[in-house]
Amino acid sequence: MREKSVLIIGAGIAGITSALEIADKDIIVHLIEKTSSIGGHVQGFCCKAVDNVCTKCGACLLKDKIDKIKVHPNVKIYLDSNISDVSKSNDKFSVQIKQNNKNNSLEIDAIVVATGFTPFDARQKGRFGYGRIPYVFTGLDIEEYFKEKGNVGVQNFEPISDNIPKQIAFIQCVGSRDPHLNKGYCSRVCCRYALRLAMMLREAFPEVKVDVFYMDIQSSGKEFNMLYDQCKDDSKIEFIKSIPTRAQEISETKSVRILYEDMTEAKLVERDYDLLVLSIGITPSEENQRIESLLGINTDEFGFFEPNAQGVFLSGTCEGPKSISESIQHAEKTALDVMEYL
Ligand SMILES: Cc1cc2nc3c(=O)[nH]c(=O)nc-3n(C[C@H](O)[C@H](O)[C@H](O)COP(=O)(O)OP(=O)(O)OC[C@H]3O[C@@H](n4cnc5c(N)ncnc54)[C@H](O)[C@@H]3O)c2cc1C
Ligand code: SF4
Ligand code: SF4
Repeated sequence: MREKSVLIIGAGIAGITSALEIADKDIIVHLIEKTSSIGGHVQGFCCKAVDNVCTKCGACLLKDKIDKIKVHPNVKIYLDSNISDVSKSNDKFSVQIKQNNKNNSLEIDAIVVATGFTPFDARQKGRFGYGRIPYVFTGLDIEEYFKEKGNVGVQNFEPISDNIPKQIAFIQCVGSRDPHLNKGYCSRVCCRYALRLAMMLREAFPEVKVDVFYMDIQSSGKEFNMLYDQCKDDSKIEFIKSIPTRAQEISETKSVRILYEDMTEAKLVERDYDLLVLSIGITPSEENQRIESLLGINTDEFGFFEPNAQGVFLSGTCEGPKSISESIQHAEKTALDVMEYL
């Protein structure tokens, strides 16, 4: 009898987790990844320990999984690859995989879609100046910066060159909870990563004041509440319930001026910052439309996948916003569903 085999599209933390769980049950897994490395977005995230205490951000959960999958005898990894055609007959899928200029044909029994998400493009919120004002960054930029430099005692902060920052602002919900952009949902992860990054910046620059502009804080779980309490107890972190209306470059002082409405006083206020961080959220992957038409699966009103095709399963953030640990849990549950189906 032919061995059962499963195709997994996308080698982020969700795709890798589902692959390991399924491969451990002696099923052959073909894991295809469109880029030249596995790990997805988590590869770019820093360790967010503060004062050497783990804040449970989950970024280090990836390494062990990558080490395991690279040597797993039941997993074949295809880098720089994408699916180009899929057909189905008698419960078997025939899939064409394009890898560079080579085509591979596979006969498989089930497909797991783990194509992840695309970070919100902050340029779509032109009024915050991302890409135009040199002191405006996204949360992802800061993650990648700390990943490269290490997270403690950053004395020469290159994003603002010769300046040690004294005032930093975060704007929450950039590209989330925004019905005008058809993104009326909460991205679930940006409050958590922003507060962790705020604490890291406070540790790196003890004199710095951090203002967090928000409309709602997505608090979930005991750990997040502890983190939130820690930030609220810090006299140099201020939470301001208002989303600024615009950011403007002040070249003379190399700073960015933010205009916002002070809700308690009902008046417009301007404040200047050395650095502005936009807490961008999770949006459906730009691949979704192509995958949708190849596999015949539906998307919800925002463009995330909905489980509705026989033999096709979803893993991780392609189905909706999730943290790393939530993506892992979802991927493990998906693997169980696949085993049951096979
Ligand atoms: C700025 C930012 C910071 C964050 N920080 C944290 C944090 O500190 N802690 C936390 O818990 N969560 C954090 N998150 C959330 C975290 O990124 C996700 O939970 C996690 O990346 C989800 O993993 P995934 O595998 O579902 O998706 P992804 O990481 O997006 O991986 C998907 C993979 O699929 C590949 N792929 C896509 N389409 C195809 C295709 N057609 N063919 C082949 N391969 C394909 C992609 O190249 C990628 O490798 C953050 C999110 C953002 C935006
Ligand atoms: S990467 Fe995150 S979870 Fe891992 S040790 Fe650092 S803070 Fe803790
Ligand atoms: S997690 Fe926080 S910042 Fe992100 S969309 Fe939800 S409320 Fe806004």
